[in-house]
Amino acid sequence: MVTSLRHDLVGAFGDPIDENPTGVMMEPAFAAAGLNWRYQLLHVGAADLPAAVAGARALGFRGFNLTIPHKVAVLEHLDAVAPDAALMGAVNTVRREGDRLIGENTDGKGFLRSIREDAGVDPGGKFVVFLGAGGAARAMTVELALAGVEHITIVNRSLGRGTELVKLLNEKTPARAQFVPWIDTYRVPQGTNILVNATSIGLYPNTSDIPAVDMTSIAPDTLVCDVIPNPPNTGFLAAAQARGARTLNGLGMLVHQGAVAFKLWTGIDADEQVMRDALERFFRN
Ligand code: NDP
Repeated sequence: MVTSLRHDLVGAFGDPIDENPTGVMMEPAFAAAGLNWRYQLLHVGAADLPAAVAGARALGFRGFNLTIPHKVAVLEHLDAVAPDAALMGAVNTVRREGDRLIGENTDGKGFLRSIREDAGVDPGGKFVVFLGAGGAARAMTVELALAGVEHITIVNRSLGRGTELVKLLNEKTPARAQFVPWIDTYRVPQGTNILVNATSIGLYPNTSDIPAVDMTSIAPDTLVCDVIPNPPNTGFLAAAQARGARTLNGLGMLVHQGAVAFKLWTGIDADEQVMRDALERFFRN
């Protein structure tokens, strides 16, 4: 028996937003949990963010996700920010507590869960190399550092972003970090436990692009990860598999970070298999 015909609303604010796949996994998860909730993709340009947040408050949104270009700008419009998101200086999920809007970041948590649950690897004491220093790398490295990773090398094309992230990790987390400018083909140092492509190189439709890494320098016992969820098996992961390395794709991270947001909004655990199946079907088409 339906007690209310009114939907509870969540969604994503971004520009661009049309190809954001989050709703593809959220709506089936709400249905599987018996929740009368809807996930809307909302095109919000940078100048309209303050009005969009005020609108979400007025319309009673239960929460929302932020994507490009809002993850940093949204901070000043919130009532509170979770400590890890404050450290990263970026929010990708907002939850509502009464009339208050609280900022969270689920990207790094999703990656951490994927490393632990999908790859069965404990990040404690590990030596990690990140290709990229953008928003995703920032969230992922901060969570890994807080989870006990020993050392993080940031390899990035632009100097400013790379050195800024290394400074943050060294000054604000227990991990040690170092910056390597990405000039030519990068050779992965011996003893690297986890190697992560946190750039957008290889993202659909540019699926033949591969990060400039000397694949012969990848040891077979290194776990090689990609943040890109589409295609699930990127050219980079395929090349690492050819070297005999274990790999972890970005689909798991996408599902797990969505499941963390789902729990923050609804208070219940999401059916992650339903979310994963929905995304795999979507990316196949
Ligand atoms: P940003 O724009 O913040 O950062 C992009 C990073 O990629 C920068 O470090 C940039 O280097 C680097 N980069 C891009 N193109 C090149 C290139 N041709 N050569 C060398 N470096 C390059 O993006 P995000 O961090 O937000 O996103 C990165 C990727 O992560 C995207 O593909 C996104 O889809 C994915 N992602 C996946 C998630 C998941 O759940 N699986 C969640 C969030 C993001 P520079 O600083 O020099 O410009």
